[in-house]
Amino acid sequence: MDGQKTILIIDDTPANIEVLAEVLGLEYEILFATSGAEGLHIASEQLPDLILLDIMMPEMDGYEVCYRLKQEPLTQNIPVIFVTALNEEVNEAKGLEAGAIDYITKPIRPAIVRARVRNHMELKRYRDLLERMAHLDGLTGIANRRQFDRFLRQEWRRSLRNQSPLSLIMIDIDHFKLYNDTYGHLAGDDCLRQVAKALEGTLLRPADLVARYGGEEFACILPETDLSGATVIAYRLKENVEALNIPHSSSPTAPHITISLGTTTLTAKRGLSPDAMIGTADRLLYQAKASGRNCVVAMRQD
Ligand code: GH3
Ligand code: MG
Ligand code: MG
Repeated sequence: MDGQKTILIIDDTPANIEVLAEVLGLEYEILFATSGAEGLHIASEQLPDLILLDIMMPEMDGYEVCYRLKQEPLTQNIPVIFVTALNEEVNEAKGLEAGAIDYITKPIRPAIVRARVRNHMELKRYRDLLERMAHLDGLTGIANRRQFDRFLRQEWRRSLRNQSPLSLIMIDIDHFKLYNDTYGHLAGDDCLRQVAKALEGTLLRPADLVARYGGEEFACILPETDLSGATVIAYRLKENVEALNIPHSSSPTAPHITISLGTTTLTAKRGLSPDAMIGTADRLLYQAKASGRNCVVAMRQD
């Protein structure tokens, strides 16, 4: 994530690329393309942090390249700065309308280019940070409810498309109110952090998501996972939380922190919804609570 930032320079005149590369090459990794089409290709493959884009190019001009970059979800957040000899106001307006963030005119003045690029890199860093933070839970650092909702809807559509199984595990810490009452709210917060970490450490597939659903509730989304696979994971989650061995002297269930889990699997179809799936997993979680806590209840939803 950190490391050297990358700039893609798109210009049909290699001499222009050379000048810019010389100005920026010490601070940034430079990629280049000598046509709009090649630039689009490299942009979506390499996802540079910033793009310097010439306007006057044969075949596909800079406006068109910029427009296409902004149409593509993968590349739409990469800042584009136009670099051009055209310095009439009308062109500047057209460039900004196409989605460019700034405008640099030729001939290149190195100090100006460096300063502008640096400013936009810094702005992008903050934007990326905000974007990441918007999806993370502040206390535990794992995905938050918003990210959970997005992810579940996305995986729901995938399941509908591919008719692949999708599993959901709803998790609730047992007697957590008593834990807070016994050890205090700060210890409670710390417990939530540890549990979140244990849950996250249990999921090994990059496609899986664990989120803080709210309060002392967590949820795991397991794409392309059938009920037996999800049940295995649920037991592993339960064991790994027990293995933390966080003392809970007032719990009627065990002398340490435990969780209850409701696990369900379905293949998405019209007439069912992600909300109904959450409802089912919640109901199974409730059954786990009712049947003594510290256990898994799993059932397919059809
Ligand atoms: P059960 O076994 O039935 O789930 O009992 P419980 O006590 O865990 O359930 P209940 O819903 O009654 O209580 C949940 C508690 O979780 C109450 C609330 O104060 C605590 N809680 C929720 N969010 C936080 C938090 O961010 N930090 C701390 N420390 N406690 C929290
Ligand atoms: Mg609860
Ligand atoms: Mg609870």
